[in-house]
Amino acid sequence: MAELTSRTVDRCRICGSKKLHRYLDLGRTPLANSYLAPEHLEEPEFQEDLCIQLCLECGLSQLTKVVHPDRMFRHYLYVSSTTATLREHFAELAATAAKAAGTKPGDLAIDVASNDGCLLSAFKAVGLSALGVDPAQNLAAEANARGLETECAYWSPDMAQKVSGRRGKAKIITACNVFAHADDLHGFMRAVDAALAPDGIFIIECPYLLDFIHHGEFDTAYHEHLSYLGVTPLEKLMAARGFGVFDVERFPDIHGGTVRVYCARAGQRPRTARAAGFFAQEEKFGVRAPAAYDAFAKLVLENRAILRGLIEKLTNEGKTVWAYGASAKGNTLMNFFGLEARLVPKAIDDNPKKWGYFTPGARMAIVGIDALKGARVDYLLLLAWNFESEIRKRCQAAGYQGDFIVPVPKARVVPGRKT
Ligand SMILES: [Zn+2]
Repeated sequence: MAELTSRTVDRCRICGSKKLHRYLDLGRTPLANSYLAPEHLEEPEFQEDLCIQLCLECGLSQLTKVVHPDRMFRHYLYVSSTTATLREHFAELAATAAKAAGTKPGDLAIDVASNDGCLLSAFKAVGLSALGVDPAQNLAAEANARGLETECAYWSPDMAQKVSGRRGKAKIITACNVFAHADDLHGFMRAVDAALAPDGIFIIECPYLLDFIHHGEFDTAYHEHLSYLGVTPLEKLMAARGFGVFDVERFPDIHGGTVRVYCARAGQRPRTARAAGFFAQEEKFGVRAPAAYDAFAKLVLENRAILRGLIEKLTNEGKTVWAYGASAKGNTLMNFFGLEARLVPKAIDDNPKKWGYFTPGARMAIVGIDALKGARVDYLLLLAWNFESEIRKRCQAAGYQGDFIVPVPKARVVPGRKT
């Protein structure tokens, strides 16, 4: 795949400004979702710089390099339905969106990057007609086999035209955990404009910039995650495309802090007081100024030394440390902290599709929770810390007696049930 070169970001993808301030350099990093089969362990891995810069004009944080999308999205092992937390969240989203848009039974809802169709089935459950668009062939095929209609494609103006020619305009378009992954945000919005009914609503869900910074969540940075979004830069984008943000909600427990941003065509809906509060909070934070971002980067470097020291100490004492969550964020953390399979040999994951593979970079063997039985494990490093309480319950139900290490924002040991 030598021809699939990365793009250097020297202009902001929202406002076009060249005033970009680098604040967090995570070093050369493999692709967070490129799990390795045993037969590929000897081959070199693709790596790219993972570095975040701030646009001083609009406040958009964005990676300095964009890896070619065909390296990242054509075969995706992450399956949203595997977590109960997300299933419940999507059921709530479908109901709330239908109410906000004032839908009638049979109205169309389009989910962009629909993954295995978790949100599509939630839309169907509230009486809507649902269509997914996703470029991962394996996931689109799986969704279609389950009766959840999914186009295997990237979301684009052409794709949106094609869909609306065939299915009519959508009352709701959702983009959950994909907007931050799109390089061409203006093209994304042109596609929304082409497929959305005049009074329809467009809903973005993505990790929230202020949670990322305030909670030291540097590990939610990975090559697929091109932008780190607040409502201030989003409004700038919406205004440029004839849209506006009219409401915002925050979900502190989803992916370590997620915002749901409701957009509609300009002048269609008044901005809520709740949304205005988010804009005010970002102004107070200093969303366009380097200070808060530079302070965050300093804390991340300090935490790196703390966690690395803790795990080396435990390993030297003869303790066994495994990880829980062979997630994208776990892979960023392992690589940036210089942790390898020598220190943390195995990673438990709930997605059976990952079992038997190895994590990129650190090359931990991925196993199911059953592997804990009979293994003498003293500490579990919670790489999927965004599902901390769910994971702790599962481990304890599986008979795990050891302790937990929560790695961010500051590494700490949480006692398990050891007697
Ligand atoms: Zn900008």
